[in-house]
Amino acid sequence: MIYIDPEQANIIEARTIHYNNIKCYLLKKVGSINKNCKIPNCKICANTLRGYKKTISKKKGKKTVKTKVTFYFNKIIEDKIKEKGFIDKLLNSDPASLALLEKKTIDDLKNTMYSQVLSNNNISPSGICLATFRIGKLTSIDDINKELEKLINYETWFKNKEPSYQYSPYHLAKKLDRRTCTYCNRLFTSTITEHGDKKVSKVTRPQFDHWFPKSKHPLLALSFYNLIPSCSVCNSNIKGSIDMDLDIHHHPYYSEFCNDFGFSIKHIPKNMIKVITVGGTQKTKDTAKQLKLEELYSAHIPEVKDLINLRKSYSDIYIKCLATYLNKIKKLSESEIHRIIFNVESKKEDYHKVPLSKFKNDILKELGVIEIK
Ligand SMILES: [Zn+2]
Ligand SMILES: [Zn+2]
Repeated sequence: MIYIDPEQANIIEARTIHYNNIKCYLLKKVGSINKNCKIPNCKICANTLRGYKKTISKKKGKKTVKTKVTFYFNKIIEDKIKEKGFIDKLLNSDPASLALLEKKTIDDLKNTMYSQVLSNNNISPSGICLATFRIGKLTSIDDINKELEKLINYETWFKNKEPSYQYSPYHLAKKLDRRTCTYCNRLFTSTITEHGDKKVSKVTRPQFDHWFPKSKHPLLALSFYNLIPSCSVCNSNIKGSIDMDLDIHHHPYYSEFCNDFGFSIKHIPKNMIKVITVGGTQKTKDTAKQLKLEELYSAHIPEVKDLINLRKSYSDIYIKCLATYLNKIKKLSESEIHRIIFNVESKKEDYHKVPLSKFKNDILKELGVIEIK
C-alpha cells in the first residue's frame, strides 16, 4: 500500500473540488440549496434533482401510523444532513474521525426517533404501541443504512457519472493523479479521457475502493478519505466489502504502513526464491495479509530474477560510471538516473508513479545495489 499525503497540493485541491460539488448535491438531495455555492453556473444547484424524501411522500390518502413514522424518520435524516457543519465533517473528516462520525450519527438518529417521534406526530394512544414497534424496526442498523444508501445514492449519482458532467469520478481521479494502484502498486490506474469537439468522453480511470465498504457504511460512500483510487483487482477481487478497522488495519492516508513495511527475498530449496513481506507491527502484518500482498507479489519472481541478474552483471563502479555518463549527456536528477537504470521511482512520494517501485526498491536495497549519489 502506497501512502497518499493529504497535505500534497493536488490532494488538497481534489478534496476542495470534491467537497464543493458533493455539498451542492447533498443539500439538493435533502430539499435544500447550497447558498454558498462556489461553482460558477453550477449545474447541480440549477438542476432539479429528485429529493430524497419524495420517493415516500407520493403516497396519498390518510396517513397510517406506519407512514407517519416513516415520514418522520426521513425528516430526521434530512435534518441531520442539514445540521450546521455536518456535511463539512462528513466529506472532509480524516478516517479516524469518519468512523466516529458514523457511529455518532446512527446513535443520534436512533435517539431522536425515540425521543421525538411519539410526541410530535399526533399518534393516538392506541397507535403508540405500533409506532414504537415501527421505530424499533426502522432504527435497526440495517434499516438505517438502507435509508442512508438511498440518500447518498453513490452508484447512480457519482460512480456512473460521465466526465462531461460538471463533476464525476474522472474529475476526482484526474486531480488525485495516482498512476498506479494505491493498494498493490502493480497496475497502472492513470486517468484518461478523450476530448471530442463537443464533449469529453471516458477512456479509463482508477476504480474507487471504499476503505470503509459502502455496503456496510453507506453514509461514508462519498467521503473524500474513503475513496481510494485502486485497480479493479484490489477493489473487486481482493478487498471487496471486507470490513476494515482502523485499530487493526492501516489506511493509505496515514503514513505508518509505508514506514513500517517492506518486501524481501527468501531462498528456498532447489535454488528457488520466494517473495515475503516484512513489517514490524501486527497491524502492518494484518494489513499486508488483508491486501494479499505476498500472494500478489509471488507473481513477480521474474522481476526479482532480473534484479539479481542486474546485480551480478553491473558492478558498483559500472553503475557509478553509467550515472556519471547519463549526467553528462543531460543534467539529470539522482532520481531520474535511478529511474533510467532500474525502471523505478526512488523517492517514497513518487512510488505511485511507476508500477512495482516500492517492491523493486526494497529488493535493490537488499541486494546491496549501490544508491546513486
Ligand atoms: Zn452548486
Ligand atoms: Zn491493486
